[in-house]
Formats: sequence, C-alpha cells, structure tokens
Amino acid sequence: MTGHPAGAFVAGAPHDGPPQPGDLALVLAGRKLLTGPDGRFPRVGELPAGTGWVPLGTLGGVPAWGTDATDDQPPEGRWRSWRSLAAALPAPLADLAGRALAVLTFRRTHRWCGACRAELADVPGEQSRRCPGCDLYVPIRLSAAVLVAITRPGPTSGPDELLLVRHASGPTALWALVAGFVEAGESLEDAARREVGEEVGLALGRLTYFGSQPWALSGPGVLLAGFTATAADTTAEPVVDGRELTEARWFPLDRLPAELPPAYSISRWLVDHVAARLAG
Ligand SMILES: [Zn+2]
Repeated sequence: MTGHPAGAFVAGAPHDGPPQPGDLALVLAGRKLLTGPDGRFPRVGELPAGTGWVPLGTLGGVPAWGTDATDDQPPEGRWRSWRSLAAALPAPLADLAGRALAVLTFRRTHRWCGACRAELADVPGEQSRRCPGCDLYVPIRLSAAVLVAITRPGPTSGPDELLLVRHASGPTALWALVAGFVEAGESLEDAARREVGEEVGLALGRLTYFGSQPWALSGPGVLLAGFTATAADTTAEPVVDGRELTEARWFPLDRLPAELPPAYSISRWLVDHVAARLAG
C-alpha cells in the first residue's frame, strides 16, 4: 500500500488486534516525527520487529501506532516538526501527528505516581495510566486555550474593523488574534473575556463560539477554541502592555495585513471567516 489513507482521523479508536505491517507508524524523536523520502509516514512493517507500539487511533479506518525512536539505532528518514507537517498535510494527518506527539510525550513524562512514587501501569483500552500502589488515576492532560476575533463597526460606509495584535516573542511580524490559556475553574467564555481585558484592555459585547482545533505547537495536548466577538465600546482603542504584546490595531476588513497566521491554523480560519462578511 502506498500513500496515506484518506478519510477522518478518529483519536483513540479501538484497535482490533496487534499492529499489522500495513498500519501507520508514527515515530517520535524529541519533538519531531519520522517521514519517508516521499514525505509520508512509514508503515509498521518498515520498522524493526519488536518495536513497542502504542495505539493512537485510526485514519480512514487504518490503525495508527506510535513509538519513541530508540537512541542507539534511529530509523533513516526525514524528521519533521508538527509545524512543517501541519503546513504540508491535510488536517486529519496533522491531527494524527499532534496526537502522536501528545500521547508519546505524556507516556514519557508520566512514568511514576506523583503521590506514592510507584511505577504507573497502563489502563487497557485507554491512554490514561493508573497507580498499582495507591490507585491514583492519571488521564492524559489537555491544555485549553482561547482565541478571539474581535470586530467593531467601521466608519460610515466603511467595512467593519478587525483587531489584530503583534507578540513580543515568537513570530513577531505576524498579525495574530488575542489568545491565551484557560485557567483552572474558568469557562472558555470567561477565559476569552479575561484574556481580551488583560492583553488589550477591551471589554467584549456579544461572544460567539466558532470552532476548535487540536494544536501541537505551544506544547503537546493543546486544544484551541475560537470565538468571534464584538467590542462593547465601539470607540475604545486597544492598549498593550509592551511585554507580551507590542502592538494592537484595528484593521478595516478590506485592508487586512499580509502577515496573517498560517492557513492550517484556526487563527486564520477565524480571520477568513470574519473577512468573508465583505463578500456577503
Ligand atoms: Zn500511587
């Protein structure tokens, strides 16, 4: 079989048996995944017999398995970051790559019970682990983050305006959306309003859920939740602290900057969704 199977990725879908040679193989070293000369993920049969495999889910019905590359004999091929894979591959494959990163990193960093120091054991059929000593249940952890596309009416007869920000670190030239991690005990909506208040000093009016995307750039197991929102005060100007953000500016929807988030990101999907109002 050549190429990647087409179809949806189902994370954690049950596997009917042990790995088969034609199953997909996600091999991790550090934060990078192995691809063959054709840019595709290898098959289980291309890796040494006796490799320890962890079930990840199914892609178009084909089981996918993950493993950490052994230090002594790393397989030949090209090692690629999630950013590179997500930019080049369809979304289901990027999601599979993100899950491999999350599951394998979780297993490497959750070997011991945090309460009694016993070695954690696998829970059959799950990616969680359990302590045989004190019965502590350790599920794989997700970090939720929110992104907000804030608009306000433009000047008379002009299009609406979208708030974009520039960050002090990372890709500093990029015009991005206000975003931040959800605190424990906080709803997604509360987090969206708090982050916007903290980062640009604005209050939100209507806040509408847009969609979500599993994300593997700012750490494994990040889940991004996107919102559209209106500014409560349509004359208020954003204020940045100069530490996390360097700039925040309202852009008319017909004059958005060229330096926008990449096409595979929910940030860009939100910007494009809001900009599509112009066509309507
Ligand atoms: Zn324990």
